[in-house]
Amino acid sequence: MTRPPLPLFLDDVVTLRKRHPCGGSDWRVVRLGADIGLRCASCQRRVLLPRAEVERDIALFVARGPLAPVARA
Ligand SMILES: [Zn+2]
Repeated sequence: MTRPPLPLFLDDVVTLRKRHPCGGSDWRVVRLGADIGLRCASCQRRVLLPRAEVERDIALFVARGPLAPVARA
């Protein structure tokens, strides 16, 4: 079963099911591509993860970045 790719945008903040060793679970999207760059909101460390892995691990969006196509009032 395939799902459409999850739209990710720079500066989105997401909660991953997998915790960082520092204990944080919130991440900011800092790089988009085949690999997704994420910065840990707790320790500011950056990691690069395959997009498929990120999409699978996202539990929820904490905040959408300014580039995300949200409805504006
Ligand atoms: Zn961390």
